[in-house]
Amino acid sequence: MHFNRLNQICVRIFCMNTTVVLNKLPQELVNQIAAGEVIERPASVVKELVDNSIDAKASEIRVKVVNGGMDLIEVSDNGEGIPRANISEIFTAHTTSKISSFEDLNNLLTMGFRGEALSTILSVSNIRLISKYSDEEVGSQLVTKDGKQGTVKSSARESGTAITVENLFENVPARRKFLKSEQTEYKRVLEILFPYFLIYPNIHFILERNSKEIFDLRSISNAKPNTIEKERLESLLKEDFVKRMLKVFYDGSGTKISGYVGHPSDHQKRANHQYIFVNARPIKDNGIARAVYQGFERYIPHGQRVPYILLLNINPELIDVNVHPRKEEVRFLNPYRVYSAVQEAVKKAVEGVTSYRVESREYTPSTSSRDISFGQNRNSSVKDSLLFSKEVLDSSGEYVKERESSFVPSNPFEFEKSEFVSFRKIFQIFNKYIVIEFEDETLWIIDQHAAAERITFEKLKNAKKNELESQNLLVPIQIEMSKVQLTEMEELKKFFEEVSIKYDVLKDHISITTVPVEFVNTDFKKFLDEILSLGEDVSSISKELTRLKEDIYATMSCHSSVRSGQALHRQEMVDMYKRLIVCENPYSCPHGRPAVWKLKLSEIDMNFERTY
Ligand code: ADP
Ligand code: MG
Repeated sequence: MHFNRLNQICVRIFCMNTTVVLNKLPQELVNQIAAGEVIERPASVVKELVDNSIDAKASEIRVKVVNGGMDLIEVSDNGEGIPRANISEIFTAHTTSKISSFEDLNNLLTMGFRGEALSTILSVSNIRLISKYSDEEVGSQLVTKDGKQGTVKSSARESGTAITVENLFENVPARRKFLKSEQTEYKRVLEILFPYFLIYPNIHFILERNSKEIFDLRSISNAKPNTIEKERLESLLKEDFVKRMLKVFYDGSGTKISGYVGHPSDHQKRANHQYIFVNARPIKDNGIARAVYQGFERYIPHGQRVPYILLLNINPELIDVNVHPRKEEVRFLNPYRVYSAVQEAVKKAVEGVTSYRVESREYTPSTSSRDISFGQNRNSSVKDSLLFSKEVLDSSGEYVKERESSFVPSNPFEFEKSEFVSFRKIFQIFNKYIVIEFEDETLWIIDQHAAAERITFEKLKNAKKNELESQNLLVPIQIEMSKVQLTEMEELKKFFEEVSIKYDVLKDHISITTVPVEFVNTDFKKFLDEILSLGEDVSSISKELTRLKEDIYATMSCHSSVRSGQALHRQEMVDMYKRLIVCENPYSCPHGRPAVWKLKLSEIDMNFERTY
């Protein structure tokens, strides 16, 4: 591409003035053209200089920008420095200390060592370089102006290299014109730097904007390059959600994945703080982004985003990095293998939250979970007595005065604090939402149907064989079905038995004899219709049972659960809350809709512009 442009320019010059000889295009012009490819704006200078400092094994890199880098960029490091004899050489095009043999060439080129960064920067700015090589006694200094080098002089410097780039593109007005405001250029510099900050926790980075220190990111002891350290994330992102981020680790099918993903409760509309690195190179890849969301399926509401910083290590032979001019994209030899690895890695991390949530079931209050449905039955029938435990109903049928305010588990484990803070008030609004006021000045609004679905879903998912309490029906439920559906139901028999739904398949109908107590009021015809329509065709359901299992559970929970529009007793609300918070993922229903909306008193106050 670069040579094409060069050709066009040569041809143009040739046509204008036949005395210009093609092969004598001035080096300065060649460099300026090349600069257009490599150096687009201040951020690209910053990138090249920081790359060089990292290559020089610096453990501290200070970046200064003035006026978005348009007036001044300075990168100084404590790396190994440049030997005095090399100083004037390094500004010559295609001069690099990083290629020692021809075999290296291919490798090095893909890593971006072309020995042209400094020579191109020289052609579009004024540079001051001071460096002290580790094996030499004195430092050296070189100043360039208008593309010309001065002489190398001695200079005081303790260690490393400092390169100052001033008046970028002053001699190329067409380029300078393309630069944007200070803010925009600074933002671009930040965007370039963030990935370095993230994957070099071993390096101390300092960033100054217009003489003001913006970041001072200490190196983390014993941290390795190309790893993600939570401590670095915390000092860099300075946001609450980082503390809650979940560690990702995966090693399989030729792909190693590490990093962090946001906690499911930290979902948001905007796609903020999402970084993907492949073999230490920051890239953009929609497939990977999608795979991350698939890993979050059923944990965050549909269309919502979560922050993530993922590092993929893939055998370089299985990727092609040369598909994008600035190498911001890569092509995978086997993308689906990579995507499914990402999905699995994320899923594992998110389910990891669950392992302690599951353990914490021990802390559920005295009412055993299977005793209570969520008020499917409003009339005080036989079913009711089955559905509500004795502990909850006292002899007069009144609800026992619950002691929820003392409900603070002895060991809150890693729960968010507010989840175990005792509450003051609990009530229902619109027969649809449960509102809870907590002592720590937070308010929860729970969608009763979404919450109930989540609870049943997890109960089904975690049920061991025949563990669910079931009820034999006095009068079996008969449902007419087509031949194909009947075959299907025959095949699903074992699956349903595991969740305590038992039936006989007869000539033209099925006869349901046993159901879990939660399902006594379910419209089974509708429910089974929905289940049988999950597969593309009916016959695919049993074949794809493993994949569809969670979909089936989700459908089941929807049909068994408390609906909106249903009035709830106080105890039912209390119980629902208690069972919701011990769910693996209390934040959304199994279809991904939110189940809880948390509001801080301060947010409510703010809405009323109340400052006291
Ligand atoms: P490349 O990085 O591809 O080698 P550059 O033009 O970026 O090409 O740099 C040219 C050479 O200058 C490098 O190979 C290296 O020897 C030297 N150099 C540049 N910056 C530094 C630095 N901060 N510390 C030590 N050496 C440096
Ligand atoms: Mg370089």
